Amino acid sequence: MDRTIHDRLSGRRITVMGLGRFGGGLGVTRYLASHGAHVLVTDTEPASRLNDPLAALEPLVRDGAVTLRLGGHDEADFRQVDLVVANPAVPRPWQNPYLRAAVEAGVPVTTEIGLLCGRIRDWSRVLGVTGSAGKSTTTSMIGAALTALGERVVIGGNLGGSLLAHADELDAPAPPWLVLELSSAMLHWLGPIGPRAAVVTNFSPNHLDWHAELDHYRACKQNLLAGMAPGASAVLGASVQNWTIPGGVARVAVGPPNAEGLPALRVPGAHNRLNAAMAIAAVRAALPEAPAAAVAPALAAFGGLAHRLEHVTDHSGVRCYNDSKCTTPESCLLAIDAFAPDQSRVHLIAGGYDKGSDLSPVARLADRLAGVYAIGATGPALAATAARVTLCGTLERAVEAAFARARPGDVLLLSPACASWDQFENFEKRGEAFRKLVATHETAHA
Ligand code: ADP
Repeated sequence: MDRTIHDRLSGRRITVMGLGRFGGGLGVTRYLASHGAHVLVTDTEPASRLNDPLAALEPLVRDGAVTLRLGGHDEADFRQVDLVVANPAVPRPWQNPYLRAAVEAGVPVTTEIGLLCGRIRDWSRVLGVTGSAGKSTTTSMIGAALTALGERVVIGGNLGGSLLAHADELDAPAPPWLVLELSSAMLHWLGPIGPRAAVVTNFSPNHLDWHAELDHYRACKQNLLAGMAPGASAVLGASVQNWTIPGGVARVAVGPPNAEGLPALRVPGAHNRLNAAMAIAAVRAALPEAPAAAVAPALAAFGGLAHRLEHVTDHSGVRCYNDSKCTTPESCLLAIDAFAPDQSRVHLIAGGYDKGSDLSPVARLADRLAGVYAIGATGPALAATAARVTLCGTLERAVEAAFARARPGDVLLLSPACASWDQFENFEKRGEAFRKLVATHETAHA
């Protein structure tokens, strides 16, 4: 988080490693080019798989501000430059041969989020959110609550596109509140940081393909708390309440008991009540004088985020929910819990990219649900674990199989417990495919 980097961008040769499809690589490339840097964008994916971000970069490529090396990397692009900006999605970056080449050559390596954090003028205006699940929801709830209080707010990080477009605002004398969702990979790169209030929603094994070791995953998450100054507040969910926090930092424990007393929420499930309770605690920590009465209606009205237990439609009396963002077994079990006490009416579509999680708790749900329909790379393992799991392979076949069995009043739920990358570009595309399949089925059977 070297702030002075920003003053030295003009004329520098900078390699952006990993354009990605989500906007982070695109945002940082635009930022660097607009500050006069010569940017080389390199990605292991070929151009044909990066259509959208490449179309957005086209004017900069035409101007000569940006050059591309796609379909693989070249070590020289990492050695003979002034700065490398790595995409946090690159797993185990300490083992990556190209990033190692940069370090050996004495080239500094940072990330988009590192550059952003280098532009933050006042960390007492920053709230950080991490955790294994619930980050985006809690971040957005905090944003909604602060907005309801009439505050200026910017939210982002691991949510939405790059915030570097807001860098000047964050660097101004009276910056807005910044609510940052931070993944463990981002926190690995950032090291200890010091927000005014930090929320750790929970902790469970995840992203072991990136971190290799659970301890490393935990240590990265703990960077959110490690740099906090006395007077700051750490809002900790039930599974992380024993985490060490720096001296003088207030420990605010949020668990099911004090999640009560919240308004009725539009978003379903006990986990969302916890997210709301953590959001309230974070806002209280940041703005102790804020009237609680102004926050509750904003949380009550919060409609949830797309692909997180999103109610898609009711078709022939079957309630269809898209929870494509669910990429862990724990999240899947929570989604099922949100439909208590009628779980025997739930048809669950699960499975996807194999990131090494133990999926047997999901397979075992087959005993108490109306059906479990397995898809993707982990589908065969799910089906092998429990006899009542129907192996469908594709999302399309799963939707058809579930509709064939569903009765009015049942729930059709896509809550895959796995990442999407085996069959889809990302979880958004998977969720959109589900929405379309449900809609197509609806039209065909109207
Ligand atoms: P993240 O940003 O951490 O991936 P999201 O807010 O996008 O989390 O929610 C993703 C999924 O995680 C949800 O669909 C839900 O299944 C689950 N989830 C949300 N909040 C919680 C929570 N507090 N505890 C456990 N799981 C949660």
